[in-house]
Amino acid sequence: MSFENIGLSESILRAVEKQGYDTPSPIQKKVIPHILAGKDVLASAQTGTGKTAGFTLPMLQILSQTNQSGKKPVRALVLTPTRELAAQVHESVESYSEFLDLNSTVIFGGVKQMKQVARIKKGIDILIATPGRLLDLVDQKLLFLDKVEFLVLDEADRMLDMGFARDINKILALLPEERQNLLFSATFSSDIKKLAKKFMNNPKLVEAEPENSTVDKIIQTAYRVDTNDKLNVLINMINEGNWKQVLVFTRTKHRANKIAEKLNKANISAAAIHGNKSQGARTKALEDFKTSSIRILVATDIAARGLDIPLLPHVINFELPNVPEDYVHRIGRTGRAGASGEAISLVAHDEVDYVAGIEKLLGEKFDRRIIEGYEPKLEDAPPTKKQNGGGANRQRSKPNPSSRNRDESKFNYKKKKKFLGNK
Ligand code: AMP
Repeated sequence: MSFENIGLSESILRAVEKQGYDTPSPIQKKVIPHILAGKDVLASAQTGTGKTAGFTLPMLQILSQTNQSGKKPVRALVLTPTRELAAQVHESVESYSEFLDLNSTVIFGGVKQMKQVARIKKGIDILIATPGRLLDLVDQKLLFLDKVEFLVLDEADRMLDMGFARDINKILALLPEERQNLLFSATFSSDIKKLAKKFMNNPKLVEAEPENSTVDKIIQTAYRVDTNDKLNVLINMINEGNWKQVLVFTRTKHRANKIAEKLNKANISAAAIHGNKSQGARTKALEDFKTSSIRILVATDIAARGLDIPLLPHVINFELPNVPEDYVHRIGRTGRAGASGEAISLVAHDEVDYVAGIEKLLGEKFDRRIIEGYEPKLEDAPPTKKQNGGGANRQRSKPNPSSRNRDESKFNYKKKKKFLGNK
């Protein structure tokens, strides 16, 4: 199936061509026909699969077929969990609708509302919003949602994780009954299914990739490194590889700040992005990273969710996430749209169990390594019963392939002399 015969209009095809897309991605092939047929769609799609175009292209097509003249009410509402994702979706909507008489805007918190309100007053067809600011403007009677024909919940699982369930319910109550609903989520958790049941009308279920699988083209390596050595290892990796664009993840905002600071001191340009940063600082950090003004973006999970940085070659987990699903989202920042990428995890003594949890979720094993000169000093306990079926023996962390108790979860059987070169 090509874009030409998927049922999209000439003006939309022109915009798609301008983006340089040759063929629809698997998720696009699956969802576009359903959406064009007017169906509700519940789709599980990994980040980086082209899901934004998957819902935007057919939505634009339908909206443009019944274009309204005069003052435009909001006809399509796209809800996203984070400001960055909202801005990114808006950018996509703008480019895909370039040759159509439809307009769009984006609203989110953390910035003054004045400009957003002025834009809405002019009349817009498509509104991309985070839930908080949306409800704020509705409460102030500056925004009305009673003419919405399309509702899209993008990254709905993250919206629930971030505690937006109540806001979503409030927003649903503001919309007209008659509308088309699309829900995109990385996973089909029971909470997502429950939410879908609440507002969707006999939705078509679409799964573009197996749940929680990582993109095939990403090389995933885990280095067992003691916490104190992590920063040096990170700096060495970046320098030796002469890496120009690396996204580094931490679990805490404080650590993100610290690492960015230390990298800058080591003459590696870096910025941190997390929830405590002002929106201006977040936008600037992301823009600087995308335009390669800085080499390293250090991010926490929430801030980085949904970021689309084309051809991002390296993602480094400075700390592993304690929720295995977050790992999938993190490494989804690389290997996007079929490009290859590398995901590296620096695993400290107290994170070994997280590895087991992630591997269990992925159904695959990491390539495990230790680095000469940075051999871990602490011995690792075997994985806990909960993570990996148990195991009572404590072993030294050194190669011992012949041991009967050799445990696959240990980081002890591939040594890397240098950071690069002999991989
Ligand atoms: P998304 O999953 O929506 O964040 O999209 C990931 C990336 O894939 C974005 O940079 C899109 O511009 C790109 N993309 C979307 N659809 C296609 C396509 N059919 N062919 C190539 N790239 C695409």
